[in-house]
Amino acid sequence: MDHAPAPPFAVHLVTGGGSSSGIALLLRSLAAARVVALDAEWKPRRRGSPAAADPAALGDDTTPASETSPAPPKFPTVTLLQVACRFSDGGGGEGERSEVFVVDLLSVPLADLWAPLRELFERPETLKLGFRFKQDLVYLSSTFSAALGCDSGFDRVEPFLDVTNIYYYLKGHDRQKKLPKETKSLATICEELLGILLSKELQCSDWSCRPLSEGQIQYAASDAYYLLDIFDLFQKRITMEGKCSSTTELTSDRHCSSVVIECSSSGYGICSGSCLMSIVTKYSEKIILTESDAKPRTSRRKEKLKIPANAKRKDNVDCSSEWQGPPPWDPSIGGDGYPKFLCDVMIEGLAKHLRCVGIDAAIPSSKKPEPRDLLNQTYKEGRILLTRDAKLLKYQYLAGNQVYRVKSLLKHDQLAEVINIFQLKISEDQLMSRCTKCNGSFIQKPLTLEEAVEASKGFQIIPTCLFNRNLEFWKCTDCNQLYWEGTQYHNAVQRFLSVCNISD
Ligand SMILES: [Zn+2]
Repeated sequence: MDHAPAPPFAVHLVTGGGSSSGIALLLRSLAAARVVALDAEWKPRRRGSPAAADPAALGDDTTPASETSPAPPKFPTVTLLQVACRFSDGGGGEGERSEVFVVDLLSVPLADLWAPLRELFERPETLKLGFRFKQDLVYLSSTFSAALGCDSGFDRVEPFLDVTNIYYYLKGHDRQKKLPKETKSLATICEELLGILLSKELQCSDWSCRPLSEGQIQYAASDAYYLLDIFDLFQKRITMEGKCSSTTELTSDRHCSSVVIECSSSGYGICSGSCLMSIVTKYSEKIILTESDAKPRTSRRKEKLKIPANAKRKDNVDCSSEWQGPPPWDPSIGGDGYPKFLCDVMIEGLAKHLRCVGIDAAIPSSKKPEPRDLLNQTYKEGRILLTRDAKLLKYQYLAGNQVYRVKSLLKHDQLAEVINIFQLKISEDQLMSRCTKCNGSFIQKPLTLEEAVEASKGFQIIPTCLFNRNLEFWKCTDCNQLYWEGTQYHNAVQRFLSVCNISD
């Protein structure tokens, strides 16, 4: 698997315990930054589970939260806030400098952060960048309200620029036209624009566990940091196209003109400074949370019925990831009773494991499928889409009960999870009954050695050491791959017997 090279930035992990210097640096950076990229992580909540059962929701005992015992949070508790700051550098040189912070909201007193964050979110001369940040803001607001009292949320971020819009601008999409319906993941955007592969492995890891692993910290930090790099591309393009020329009426706005002066005097350069403000004036938007945004969806199902098929959907999607049946193969809704899955590219290993226990598990036909392609295949073939990409869940309203987000990280745990969630009944004779290479089925009758040798001609070499043993062969009816009972086979059977709870 490809991994991003070591990231080109140092990360400040800001925790509450003993390193208040980290908080001080963070606050100074927030105050001085020209552009701030934001991202947040939280632990997805199980539907219907009381908030108190969520360790993240308990908050920090040192915050005023426990004294006033406020109502439990209505949304998942944000446990990590990532902030990448870019400022002008008085020391000249490139003129730009960045600091990247991963702020542990489980240990930093939220009371220390609230006012500086709120000021940052509303400061007109600092551009905020995010990737579909509205949902993050809803959760962040709820997290702060729960800890500090109901007036301690956030209700706006302005000026704001969504990286999705930057992406479409850079791709030459006409601003006057509607944006394409399918949304690109941040990983896709980073890969296309920066040529950087973000590891997706940790995307769905438990962000409420402490200590965070080095991998988690780096992953979280990159999600914010690369937003700055993408913004740089955008800024360069705008400058190149001369769209931030002096014709923009910067002086008509008091804020803007003062910023230009400030920028140039601090060495930021009149061009990039004015260009930034020109971008803010021309391209930025704002996120405003209304009362309805602060209300969680009580029932996804009810909500779904109310939404007409072609209705626009708000982007503050409940990240509840519980699957609600019945599956498309359920006989009660006309299915044939045979479970069928489509495993997203991140969990192709799970597809192989499912095939090992005889379950039909397809993988996407393309290496980099768009969400639309995944959903089309899911629909057409009556499958359930298994994914680790929480962002795909927002298509759940399109795909009915056909999208499930796998929570486990390891293949064996994932297999056990899927067996458990979908109540799959697996018998011993199902084990190794499907081609792990292509998901095809085997011909019913095991082949003799002679038949196997014949079948393998010009296609696959059967080790001669197998010739004197009394082995059974199977052939895949789709890709013709031959399988035989080797040591690996027996070991695998033993492993799967226990994963599938089959007693022999
Ligand atoms: Zn095959």
